[in-house]
Amino acid sequence: MDLSYILNHLGEERANYLNAVSPPIFQTSNFTFNSVSDLRTSIKDEMNIPFYTRGCNPTVSILRKKIAALEGAEDALVMSSGSAAASAAIISQLAAGDHLISVSKPYSWTFKLITLFLDRFGVEATFVDGTKVENFENAIKPNTKLIVLESPNSLTFELQDLAAISSLAKFRNITTVIDNSYCSPLNQKPIELGIDLVFHSATKYLAGHSDAVCGVICGSTEKIKQIFASEFMTLGAIISPNDAFLLMRGLRTLPLRMERVSKSVFKILHYLEKNENVAKIYHPFSESFPQLALANKQMKSASGLLSFELKAENREEVDLFCDSLNTFLLACSWGGHESLVFPICGLDDSANYKDNELPWNLIRINIGLEDPQYLIDDLDQAFKKYRNSEYFSTANHLSDSH
Ligand SMILES: *Cc1c(COP(=O)(O)O)cnc(C)c1O
Repeated sequence: MDLSYILNHLGEERANYLNAVSPPIFQTSNFTFNSVSDLRTSIKDEMNIPFYTRGCNPTVSILRKKIAALEGAEDALVMSSGSAAASAAIISQLAAGDHLISVSKPYSWTFKLITLFLDRFGVEATFVDGTKVENFENAIKPNTKLIVLESPNSLTFELQDLAAISSLAKFRNITTVIDNSYCSPLNQKPIELGIDLVFHSATKYLAGHSDAVCGVICGSTEKIKQIFASEFMTLGAIISPNDAFLLMRGLRTLPLRMERVSKSVFKILHYLEKNENVAKIYHPFSESFPQLALANKQMKSASGLLSFELKAENREEVDLFCDSLNTFLLACSWGGHESLVFPICGLDDSANYKDNELPWNLIRINIGLEDPQYLIDDLDQAFKKYRNSEYFSTANHLSDSH
């Protein structure tokens, strides 16, 4: 299906709402019927016929069609957050006594879902280094029902070989689910590679404007129906009609935004790769990335989120660099129009902040839609301030002179 058709027309039955070009926000909780017989017919298909907004809202229904088509899936559900989507997708495939295998560093709340929540309900989990396919194979048990993937993750960007893992899982009758937020459906199509369920934090690239929190799940008609009838309706984490409108508005420009971000990120990478204050860069399309070949194989292009290790001696130096940025806003999240910076050591106020699992000097930046030179100028002045500061040690100066 043509991308332009999906984003501009699919699902939009304009004659049903006075030929409005932009669909109305159906801000209603419920829908009325002319007869009991009509009511009876509608409740039989609560997922697709407006009856009560938790099950079906016309604004949200348009989105479901567009999101499914973008992922190449048969159907999709739209939810109130990426975490709601992750939870519904993962819980739906499991029961007490089952075992799941997860990639070792999933998004923090996905990790908590598995370790704090599912554990209470008797689901056992094994976390594996996802860069090697055999790690998944070796972790399989007779009761393994689900493999949870996130390729790449959103801090250090390790990838998993999706085609290899999905064929391994299919052979053993194990369901696969992936968090595809980083790539967006434009840069990676997991369903084409055999993955069963795909979810997104639509808060990030899909909505793209840092003004709505939302999530989506994509999969086969059968799986989506099953999730709808259970986790979706019982947990009830639905998107509001208003946020559905914002998500749809964001989608209109998804290809333009992703193209802009991809072009900009290569310029920023090039700048950082030459920068003497940078110890290590993390980005799937960076020249030094160990899985660059796999990125080229299964991802179409680069997204705008990357990390680097600052050649710093201590937390104060990282703080100084980040505090010196003017254009990059100091904030969590990513995927919006604006560039952001987030230092990992901002999460830890203890004295032993260097003992973290992640490098303490790791700084994540989100490249937004600004002119890349405008962003480079800001990085440049912040690096200069940091280098000239009293914190900047002699040891650093010496090692940099080579
Ligand atoms: C933000 C994020 C989530 C959670 O999404 P919310 O919309 O914030 O609930 C899940 N996965 C990844 C990779 C994320 O970045």
